[in-house]
Amino acid sequence: MIHFNKPYRTGNEIGYIKDAVDNQLQISGNGHYTKKCQSFIENRYAVKKCLLTNSCTDALEMCAILIGISPGDEVIMPSYTFTSTANAFILRGAKVVFCDSMVENPNINHHALETLITDKTKAIIAVHYAGIACDMDSIVDVAKRHGLYVVEDAAQAIESTYKGKQLGTIGHLGTFSFHETKNIQCGEGGMLMINDPAFINRSEILWEKGTNRAAFWRGEVDKYGWVDIGSSYLPSELNAAYLWAQFERLEDIQSKRIELWNRYNSNLKNLDSKISNPDVPGYASVNAHMYYIVCSSLEDRQNLISHLKSNDIHSVFHYQSLHASPYFEDKHDGRELFMSDKYSNQLLRLPLYYDLSIEDVDNISELIQAYYAN
Ligand SMILES: *Cc1c(COP(=O)(O)O)cnc(C)c1O
Repeated sequence: MIHFNKPYRTGNEIGYIKDAVDNQLQISGNGHYTKKCQSFIENRYAVKKCLLTNSCTDALEMCAILIGISPGDEVIMPSYTFTSTANAFILRGAKVVFCDSMVENPNINHHALETLITDKTKAIIAVHYAGIACDMDSIVDVAKRHGLYVVEDAAQAIESTYKGKQLGTIGHLGTFSFHETKNIQCGEGGMLMINDPAFINRSEILWEKGTNRAAFWRGEVDKYGWVDIGSSYLPSELNAAYLWAQFERLEDIQSKRIELWNRYNSNLKNLDSKISNPDVPGYASVNAHMYYIVCSSLEDRQNLISHLKSNDIHSVFHYQSLHASPYFEDKHDGRELFMSDKYSNQLLRLPLYYDLSIEDVDNISELIQAYYAN
Protein backbone atom coordinates (compact mmCIF):
# COMPACT_ATOMS: atom_id res chain seq x y z
CA MET A 1 0.00 0.00 0.00
CA ILE A 2 1.35 3.42 -0.93
CA HIS A 3 -0.14 6.00 1.39
CA PHE A 4 -0.82 9.55 0.33
CA ASN A 5 1.55 10.99 2.92
CA LYS A 6 4.09 9.68 5.38
CA PRO A 7 5.65 12.29 7.66
CA TYR A 8 9.44 12.19 7.44
CA ARG A 9 11.68 11.89 10.50
CA THR A 10 15.34 12.77 10.24
CA GLY A 11 16.28 10.62 13.24
CA ASN A 12 17.53 13.55 15.33
CA GLU A 13 14.17 14.69 16.67
CA ILE A 14 14.22 12.63 19.88
CA GLY A 15 17.81 13.62 20.62
CA TYR A 16 16.97 17.31 20.52
CA ILE A 17 13.81 16.78 22.57
CA LYS A 18 15.92 14.94 25.16
CA ASP A 19 18.39 17.81 25.15
CA ALA A 20 15.55 20.28 25.68
CA VAL A 21 14.32 18.26 28.67
CA ASP A 22 17.68 17.42 30.22
CA ASN A 23 19.92 20.38 29.48
CA GLN A 24 17.97 23.49 28.63
CA LEU A 25 16.56 26.00 31.08
CA GLN A 26 12.90 25.57 30.21
CA ILE A 27 10.53 23.47 28.16
CA SER A 28 7.89 26.21 28.03
CA GLY A 29 7.94 28.38 24.90
CA ASN A 30 10.43 30.99 23.69
CA GLY A 31 13.48 29.06 24.88
CA HIS A 32 16.66 27.73 23.25
CA TYR A 33 15.11 25.76 20.35
CA THR A 34 12.37 28.30 19.62
CA LYS A 35 15.07 30.97 19.21
CA LYS A 36 17.15 28.66 16.99
CA CYS A 37 14.16 27.98 14.72
CA GLN A 38 13.22 31.65 14.50
CA SER A 39 16.78 32.80 13.74
CA PHE A 40 17.15 30.09 11.12
CA ILE A 41 14.20 31.42 9.12
CA GLU A 42 15.08 35.08 9.81
CA ASN A 43 18.58 34.54 8.44
CA ARG A 44 17.73 32.21 5.58
CA TYR A 45 14.97 34.41 4.14
CA ALA A 46 16.05 37.82 5.51
CA VAL A 47 12.83 38.22 7.51
CA LYS A 48 12.70 41.11 9.98
CA LYS A 49 11.06 39.03 12.72
CA CYS A 50 9.70 35.48 12.99
CA LEU A 51 7.63 33.95 15.76
CA LEU A 52 7.11 30.22 16.13
CA THR A 53 3.45 29.34 16.73
CA ASN A 54 1.40 26.23 17.48
CA SER A 55 0.05 26.22 13.94
CA CYS A 56 -0.36 28.24 10.79
CA THR A 57 -3.91 28.75 12.03
CA ASP A 58 -2.50 30.55 15.11
CA ALA A 59 -0.24 32.68 12.91
CA LEU A 60 -3.21 33.67 10.71
CA GLU A 61 -5.22 34.59 13.83
CA MET A 62 -2.33 36.81 14.90
CA CYS A 63 -2.38 38.46 11.45
CA ALA A 64 -6.07 39.28 11.83
CA ILE A 65 -5.44 40.94 15.21
CA LEU A 66 -2.30 42.76 14.02
CA ILE A 67 -3.97 44.38 11.02
CA GLY A 68 -6.79 45.49 13.32
CA ILE A 69 -9.69 43.53 11.84
CA SER A 70 -12.94 44.57 13.52
CA PRO A 71 -16.58 43.68 12.86
CA GLY A 72 -17.72 44.73 9.41
CA ASP A 73 -14.27 44.88 7.81
CA GLU A 74 -14.07 42.98 4.54
CA VAL A 75 -11.26 40.59 3.68
CA ILE A 76 -10.76 39.14 0.18
CA MET A 77 -9.38 35.61 -0.21
CA PRO A 78 -9.73 32.61 -2.52
CA SER A 79 -12.63 30.22 -1.94
CA TYR A 80 -10.33 27.34 -2.82
CA THR A 81 -8.36 27.24 0.46
CA PHE A 82 -8.31 25.69 3.92
CA THR A 83 -10.87 26.79 6.51
CA SER A 84 -8.21 28.45 8.71
CA THR A 85 -7.50 31.12 6.09
CA ALA A 86 -11.10 32.31 6.53
CA ASN A 87 -11.74 31.42 10.19
CA ALA A 88 -8.87 33.57 11.43
CA PHE A 89 -10.59 36.70 10.07
CA ILE A 90 -14.16 35.59 10.80
CA LEU A 91 -13.19 35.16 14.47
CA ARG A 92 -12.42 38.93 14.54
CA GLY A 93 -15.79 39.77 12.98
CA ALA A 94 -14.67 40.20 9.37
CA LYS A 95 -16.90 39.67 6.39
CA VAL A 96 -15.05 37.30 4.07
CA VAL A 97 -15.41 38.01 0.35
CA PHE A 98 -14.41 34.99 -1.69
CA CYS A 99 -12.58 35.42 -4.98
CA ASP A 100 -12.36 32.84 -7.75
CA SER A 101 -9.17 30.96 -8.69
CA MET A 102 -7.12 31.42 -11.84
CA VAL A 103 -7.88 29.43 -14.97
CA GLU A 104 -4.26 28.27 -14.99
CA ASN A 105 -3.96 27.25 -11.33
CA PRO A 106 -5.88 27.35 -8.02
CA ASN A 107 -4.34 30.66 -6.84
CA ILE A 108 -6.47 33.78 -6.32
CA ASN A 109 -7.51 35.44 -9.59
CA HIS A 110 -5.79 38.82 -9.22
CA HIS A 111 -7.68 40.13 -12.29
CA ALA A 112 -10.92 39.91 -10.27
CA LEU A 113 -9.68 41.72 -7.16
CA GLU A 114 -10.53 45.27 -8.20
CA THR A 115 -14.22 44.43 -8.68
CA LEU A 116 -14.45 43.02 -5.12
CA ILE A 117 -12.94 45.99 -3.29
CA THR A 118 -15.31 48.31 -1.35
CA ASP A 119 -14.80 51.10 1.25
CA LYS A 120 -14.80 48.40 3.90
CA THR A 121 -12.09 46.20 2.39
CA LYS A 122 -9.10 45.92 4.69
CA ALA A 123 -6.94 43.12 3.34
CA ILE A 124 -6.20 40.65 0.57
CA ILE A 125 -5.07 37.17 1.58
CA ALA A 126 -2.82 35.44 -0.96
CA VAL A 127 -2.71 31.64 -0.57
CA HIS A 128 0.18 30.08 -2.49
CA TYR A 129 -1.49 26.82 -3.47
CA ALA A 130 0.83 23.79 -3.71
CA GLY A 131 3.67 26.19 -2.86
CA ILE A 132 3.34 27.86 -6.28
CA ALA A 133 3.36 31.65 -6.03
CA CYS A 134 0.40 33.94 -6.64
CA ASP A 135 1.07 36.91 -8.91
CA MET A 136 2.41 39.05 -6.06
CA ASP A 137 3.30 42.18 -8.07
CA SER A 138 -0.31 42.46 -9.25
CA ILE A 139 -1.71 41.80 -5.76
CA VAL A 140 0.65 44.24 -4.04
CA ASP A 141 -0.10 46.86 -6.70
CA VAL A 142 -3.89 46.62 -6.20
CA ALA A 143 -3.41 46.66 -2.42
CA LYS A 144 -1.20 49.78 -2.56
CA ARG A 145 -3.66 51.67 -4.73
CA HIS A 146 -6.51 50.94 -2.29
CA GLY A 147 -4.54 51.13 0.98
CA LEU A 148 -5.02 47.46 1.85
CA TYR A 149 -2.91 45.00 3.80
CA VAL A 150 -1.51 41.92 2.09
CA VAL A 151 -1.22 38.73 4.16
CA GLU A 152 0.41 35.68 2.59
CA ASP A 153 -0.88 32.28 3.68
CA ALA A 154 2.37 30.53 2.76
CA ALA A 155 1.41 27.40 4.75
CA GLN A 156 2.53 25.17 1.86
CA ALA A 157 5.29 27.40 0.54
CA ILE A 158 8.53 26.99 2.50
CA GLU A 159 11.50 27.31 0.07
CA SER A 160 9.28 28.60 -2.74
CA THR A 161 9.87 31.92 -4.39
CA TYR A 162 8.25 34.68 -6.43
CA LYS A 163 10.84 36.34 -8.70
CA GLY A 164 13.52 34.91 -6.42
CA LYS A 165 11.96 36.19 -3.18
CA GLN A 166 10.80 33.68 -0.55
CA LEU A 167 7.00 33.46 -0.29
CA GLY A 168 5.64 34.82 2.98
CA THR A 169 8.21 37.65 2.98
CA ILE A 170 6.48 39.87 0.39
CA GLY A 171 3.20 40.93 2.05
CA HIS A 172 2.97 42.87 5.33
CA LEU A 173 2.72 39.51 7.12
CA GLY A 174 3.20 35.87 6.09
CA THR A 175 2.59 32.47 7.66
CA PHE A 176 4.07 28.96 7.38
CA SER A 177 2.64 25.64 8.57
CA PHE A 178 4.69 22.82 10.07
CA HIS A 179 1.72 20.46 10.26
CA GLU A 180 2.75 16.87 9.58
CA THR A 181 1.34 17.05 6.05
CA LYS A 182 3.79 19.82 5.09
CA ASN A 183 7.37 19.55 3.75
CA ILE A 184 8.93 20.42 7.13
CA GLN A 185 6.92 19.35 10.14
CA CYS A 186 6.67 18.96 13.89
CA GLY A 187 3.20 17.40 14.11
CA GLU A 188 1.45 20.70 14.74
CA GLY A 189 3.36 23.94 14.27
CA GLY A 190 3.53 27.20 12.38
CA MET A 191 5.33 30.50 12.03
CA LEU A 192 4.43 34.14 11.68
CA MET A 193 6.73 36.25 9.51
CA ILE A 194 6.57 39.97 10.20
CA ASN A 195 7.78 41.94 7.20
CA ASP A 196 6.36 45.34 8.16
CA PRO A 197 8.39 46.43 11.21
CA ALA A 198 5.41 48.40 12.53
CA PHE A 199 3.94 45.07 13.72
CA ILE A 200 6.99 43.66 15.50
CA ASN A 201 6.40 44.91 19.07
CA ARG A 202 2.74 44.07 19.17
CA SER A 203 3.23 40.63 17.63
CA GLU A 204 5.38 39.53 20.58
CA ILE A 205 2.75 40.78 23.02
CA LEU A 206 -0.13 38.92 21.32
CA TRP A 207 2.07 35.82 21.27
CA GLU A 208 2.71 35.95 25.04
CA LYS A 209 -0.91 36.24 26.27
CA GLY A 210 -1.08 40.02 26.01
CA THR A 211 1.99 40.60 28.20
CA ASN A 212 5.32 42.26 27.50
CA ARG A 213 7.14 39.19 28.80
CA ALA A 214 9.42 38.86 25.76
CA ALA A 215 10.69 42.43 26.25
CA PHE A 216 11.11 41.71 29.98
CA TRP A 217 13.36 38.69 29.30
CA ARG A 218 15.49 40.89 27.08
CA GLY A 219 15.80 43.39 29.94
CA GLU A 220 13.98 46.15 28.04
CA VAL A 221 11.34 46.66 30.76
CA ASP A 222 11.80 46.13 34.52
CA LYS A 223 8.55 44.27 35.11
CA TYR A 224 6.06 42.58 32.89
CA GLY A 225 2.31 42.87 32.89
CA TRP A 226 -0.89 42.85 30.88
CA VAL A 227 -0.57 45.45 28.15
CA ASP A 228 -2.86 44.27 25.30
CA ILE A 229 -5.11 41.41 24.17
CA GLY A 230 -3.37 38.17 23.28
CA SER A 231 -3.39 34.43 23.54
CA SER A 232 -1.06 31.48 23.99
CA TYR A 233 0.28 31.25 20.47
CA LEU A 234 3.77 30.00 21.36
CA PRO A 235 4.58 26.28 21.28
CA SER A 236 6.49 24.33 23.91
CA GLU A 237 10.23 23.78 23.47
CA LEU A 238 9.45 20.09 22.84
CA ASN A 239 7.87 20.98 19.50
CA ALA A 240 10.60 23.50 18.69
CA ALA A 241 13.30 20.87 19.38
CA TYR A 242 11.58 18.43 17.00
CA LEU A 243 11.28 21.14 14.36
CA TRP A 244 14.95 22.06 14.68
CA ALA A 245 15.91 18.53 13.60
CA GLN A 246 13.87 19.08 10.44
CA PHE A 247 15.28 22.55 9.70
CA GLU A 248 18.79 21.06 9.87
CA ARG A 249 17.86 18.73 7.01
CA LEU A 250 15.83 21.23 5.00
CA GLU A 251 17.98 21.09 1.86
CA ASP A 252 18.15 17.30 1.78
CA ILE A 253 14.38 17.01 2.29
CA GLN A 254 13.74 19.54 -0.46
CA SER A 255 16.07 18.00 -3.02
CA LYS A 256 14.42 14.59 -2.58
CA ARG A 257 10.91 16.02 -2.90
CA ILE A 258 11.84 18.07 -5.96
CA GLU A 259 13.33 14.99 -7.62
CA LEU A 260 10.03 13.12 -7.11
CA TRP A 261 7.95 16.10 -8.29
CA ASN A 262 10.02 16.43 -11.47
CA ARG A 263 9.68 12.73 -12.15
CA TYR A 264 5.87 12.87 -11.93
CA ASN A 265 5.86 15.92 -14.14
CA SER A 266 7.96 14.35 -16.89
CA ASN A 267 6.15 11.00 -16.62
CA LEU A 268 2.71 12.58 -16.99
CA LYS A 269 3.42 15.46 -19.40
CA ASN A 270 2.20 13.52 -22.43
CA LEU A 271 -1.31 13.23 -20.92
CA ASP A 272 -1.96 16.93 -21.38
CA SER A 273 -4.97 16.33 -23.62
CA LYS A 274 -6.65 14.27 -20.84
CA ILE A 275 -5.48 16.00 -17.63
CA SER A 276 -3.76 19.23 -16.65
CA ASN A 277 -0.36 19.13 -14.98
CA PRO A 278 0.54 21.83 -12.44
CA ASP A 279 0.94 25.28 -13.97
CA VAL A 280 4.15 26.94 -12.78
CA PRO A 281 4.27 30.58 -13.93
CA GLY A 282 7.66 31.88 -15.08
CA TYR A 283 8.02 34.00 -11.92
CA ALA A 284 7.58 31.01 -9.59
CA SER A 285 9.79 28.20 -8.32
CA VAL A 286 8.53 24.78 -7.20
CA ASN A 287 9.06 23.53 -3.61
CA ALA A 288 7.44 20.15 -4.37
CA HIS A 289 4.91 20.48 -1.59
CA MET A 290 2.37 18.65 -3.72
CA TYR A 291 1.99 17.00 -7.09
CA TYR A 292 -1.53 17.48 -8.38
CA ILE A 293 -3.32 16.85 -11.64
CA VAL A 294 -6.66 18.25 -12.80
CA CYS A 295 -8.95 15.55 -14.22
CA SER A 296 -11.53 16.21 -16.94
CA SER A 297 -14.57 15.75 -14.68
CA LEU A 298 -15.68 14.70 -11.20
CA GLU A 299 -16.50 11.27 -12.61
CA ASP A 300 -13.10 10.94 -14.28
CA ARG A 301 -11.44 11.80 -10.95
CA GLN A 302 -13.56 9.29 -9.05
CA ASN A 303 -12.72 6.54 -11.52
CA LEU A 304 -9.02 7.33 -11.37
CA ILE A 305 -9.06 7.33 -7.54
CA SER A 306 -10.74 3.89 -7.66
CA HIS A 307 -8.30 2.59 -10.27
CA LEU A 308 -5.33 3.66 -8.13
CA LYS A 309 -6.96 2.35 -4.96
CA SER A 310 -7.50 -1.08 -6.52
CA ASN A 311 -3.73 -1.06 -7.08
CA ASP A 312 -3.09 -0.10 -3.42
CA ILE A 313 -2.31 3.54 -4.10
CA HIS A 314 -3.96 6.23 -2.07
CA SER A 315 -4.63 9.48 -3.95
CA VAL A 316 -6.80 12.24 -2.52
CA PHE A 317 -8.79 15.24 -3.67
CA HIS A 318 -8.48 18.54 -1.81
CA TYR A 319 -10.51 21.58 -0.79
CA GLN A 320 -14.21 21.97 -1.35
CA SER A 321 -15.02 25.62 -2.22
CA LEU A 322 -15.53 27.51 1.04
CA HIS A 323 -18.21 29.77 -0.46
CA ALA A 324 -20.42 26.69 -0.94
CA SER A 325 -19.63 25.09 2.46
CA PRO A 326 -22.35 24.31 5.00
CA TYR A 327 -21.04 27.12 7.24
CA PHE A 328 -20.74 29.82 4.58
CA GLU A 329 -23.33 28.98 1.89
CA ASP A 330 -26.02 31.35 3.22
CA LYS A 331 -23.45 34.14 3.81
CA HIS A 332 -22.14 34.06 0.23
CA ASP A 333 -23.38 36.76 -2.14
CA GLY A 334 -24.35 34.26 -4.85
CA ARG A 335 -21.51 34.91 -7.31
CA GLU A 336 -20.50 31.83 -9.29
CA LEU A 337 -16.91 30.87 -8.58
CA PHE A 338 -16.48 28.57 -11.49
CA MET A 339 -12.78 27.75 -11.26
CA SER A 340 -12.92 27.16 -7.50
CA ASP A 341 -15.70 24.62 -8.03
CA LYS A 342 -13.77 23.07 -10.89
CA TYR A 343 -10.70 22.46 -8.69
CA SER A 344 -12.99 21.16 -5.91
CA ASN A 345 -14.39 18.54 -8.30
CA GLN A 346 -11.45 17.73 -10.53
CA LEU A 347 -8.13 18.26 -8.73
CA LEU A 348 -6.36 15.13 -7.51
CA ARG A 349 -3.22 14.92 -5.35
CA LEU A 350 -0.75 12.05 -5.81
CA PRO A 351 1.49 10.53 -3.11
CA LEU A 352 4.60 12.64 -2.51
CA TYR A 353 6.81 12.29 0.56
CA TYR A 354 10.49 11.86 1.38
CA ASP A 355 10.42 8.07 1.73
CA LEU A 356 8.75 7.53 -1.65
CA SER A 357 11.14 6.21 -4.32
CA ILE A 358 11.54 7.12 -7.98
CA GLU A 359 10.33 3.56 -8.76
CA ASP A 360 7.15 4.24 -6.75
CA VAL A 361 6.56 7.40 -8.77
CA ASP A 362 7.17 5.48 -12.01
CA ASN A 363 4.72 2.76 -10.95
CA ILE A 364 2.03 5.27 -10.01
CA SER A 365 2.60 7.14 -13.28
CA GLU A 366 2.30 3.92 -15.29
CA LEU A 367 -1.02 3.12 -13.64
CA ILE A 368 -2.28 6.57 -14.59
CA GLN A 369 -1.02 6.09 -18.15
CA ALA A 370 -2.78 2.73 -18.33
CA TYR A 371 -6.02 4.24 -17.00
CA TYR A 372 -6.02 6.95 -19.69
CA ALA A 373 -4.99 4.52 -22.44
CA ASN A 374 -8.39 2.82 -22.13
C1 LIG B 1 -2.06 23.51 6.17
C2 LIG B 1 -2.70 24.81 5.83
C3 LIG B 1 -3.21 25.67 6.82
C4 LIG B 1 -3.31 25.29 8.26
O1 LIG B 1 -2.09 25.00 8.85
P1 LIG B 1 -2.07 24.47 10.36
O2 LIG B 1 -0.60 24.55 10.70
O3 LIG B 1 -2.58 23.07 10.34
O4 LIG B 1 -2.89 25.37 11.18
C5 LIG B 1 -3.68 26.90 6.44
N1 LIG B 1 -3.70 27.28 5.14
C6 LIG B 1 -3.26 26.47 4.17
C7 LIG B 1 -3.27 26.96 2.75
C8 LIG B 1 -2.75 25.20 4.48
O5 LIG B 1 -2.30 24.40 3.50
